[in-house]
Amino acid sequence: MIMKDKSIMKEELGKMLDKYPAAAFKGRKGHTLVVDQCLAPQEMVADTRTIPGIITERGCTYAGCKGVVVGPLKDTIAITHGPIGCGYYSWLTRRNKARKNEGEEHNFLAYCFSTDMQEADIVFGGEKKLRAAITEVVEIFHPKTVMICATCPVGLIGDDINAVAVWAEKELGVQTIAFNCEGYKGVSQSAGHHIANNGLFKHIMGTGDAPKKDFSINILGEYNIGGDGWEIERLLKIIGYNIISIMSGDGTVERLRSAHKADLNLVQCHRSINYVAEMLREKHGTDWIKVNFLGIESTIQSLRDTAKYFNDPGLIERTEELIEAELLAIGPKMEKYREICKGKTAALFVGGSRANHFQGLFKELGMETVLAGFEFAHRDDYEGREVIPTIKANADNKNIENLVVERDEKSYRLILSEERYAQLSKEMSLNYFEGMIKIMNDGTVVVDDINHYEMESFMKLLKPDVFGSGIKEKYVIHKMGTFSKQLHSYDYSGPFAGFKGAVIFARDIAMGLTTPAWKLIKPKWKTEPMLEGNYIEEVG
Ligand code: SF4
Repeated sequence: MIMKDKSIMKEELGKMLDKYPAAAFKGRKGHTLVVDQCLAPQEMVADTRTIPGIITERGCTYAGCKGVVVGPLKDTIAITHGPIGCGYYSWLTRRNKARKNEGEEHNFLAYCFSTDMQEADIVFGGEKKLRAAITEVVEIFHPKTVMICATCPVGLIGDDINAVAVWAEKELGVQTIAFNCEGYKGVSQSAGHHIANNGLFKHIMGTGDAPKKDFSINILGEYNIGGDGWEIERLLKIIGYNIISIMSGDGTVERLRSAHKADLNLVQCHRSINYVAEMLREKHGTDWIKVNFLGIESTIQSLRDTAKYFNDPGLIERTEELIEAELLAIGPKMEKYREICKGKTAALFVGGSRANHFQGLFKELGMETVLAGFEFAHRDDYEGREVIPTIKANADNKNIENLVVERDEKSYRLILSEERYAQLSKEMSLNYFEGMIKIMNDGTVVVDDINHYEMESFMKLLKPDVFGSGIKEKYVIHKMGTFSKQLHSYDYSGPFAGFKGAVIFARDIAMGLTTPAWKLIKPKWKTEPMLEGNYIEEVG
């Protein structure tokens, strides 16, 4: 059920934007739209500078590189080179779970490594301190690799972290990789993803020699929040896939080295990992498919597409058996929660992919998504990869390296014949992502880089029953009397992926919507008379 029709919504959107001063109006007007499939393709403005002082929800390049992509790799030591804040605030706050599996040597995720730069390091340079830090971690922890993640001051004072990495490798015999992911680069976390993809592709991927096995895959852009990756792995292993590497939740650098040996890459988060998926394709010929393991229907679709790619009767049969068994197990539970949730509406504002991924799950609970948006997605995440050639470079993304990759004749191989590729492309998304707008209903709203003024305006206008977003928004929404569900940290619950995850998600949403506290927000004396009694006149 849509609250208002699309022409009314467009009018309301216009009124909201009209309240901005002229410069802010100019800066924000292309970042919101009302979905109108008759006008498709609708163009979004995205991945541009945030307006100063507007109270954005965005983070920085360091967060995208160290916090998202590099940080979850458990067998490497990621040193934050900078003052203590960046490392401290990102210490264990993202729930990319990791455990030491059989045969694995290290799990360093519980630690926070920082050079803790002081005034003297800013004045005289921090390279000496960085060298000392690397020497110390190598002596104490014996890692096989060290990653250096730069923060804002590092680029400004000119510390040459790449030279320190070369020094460390020569002097200490440990592979050391420098990431120039200073927070001010780009406009959001997104630049950090790109920098991390480039570094891992250049220095790690393709250097391993894991034995070749049948049905080998990588899972890319899956960060094992609340154990999502483990649930996805469980399903894929039952069917019989050989998972070479996972990038990067519960992942290891050692497994990532052999990622080029996979027959197929499954891409969960398109925004953060599409660079590596494309580079693996260009250099080694490996195709990728866009999957989504959040939601029952999309999990089924993802499992079927993966099996279809390999076209093996055994895999296809095991896939169908697994789907049947899992559906049977969750059916009655999902129905119970659906009864509670159906007819309600959701607004979603999450990083670069989840606002898209969770829409199916809400639909399965009988709920409609009335607003969806991303902090740092690009136009292709909204409109589909077909728009990539039309995206213009700007001053902020021009300085992020675009790796040019050449075919490696030794490892390059195509799994599909030309005819089969053409046929499959019609049946599934091969090396393609359709974007979010295409799956949304007419009259719903899409917002890029939302800010607090817009969030509050949309809350009043759309009155969603649940707002799915992050920690910074959560209590603002709660204070407005609406249930907010964190879709970054899962409110410390999860997993939400796969069939079992769908039930946990449904339970969490049903619990949140029916929490008795929502009925107690208005004190009784505002809704009911405080005193009750009769006046009796005494006649003397
Ligand atoms: S913006 Fe700069 S100072 Fe802030 S967290 Fe990012 S790297 Fe650190």
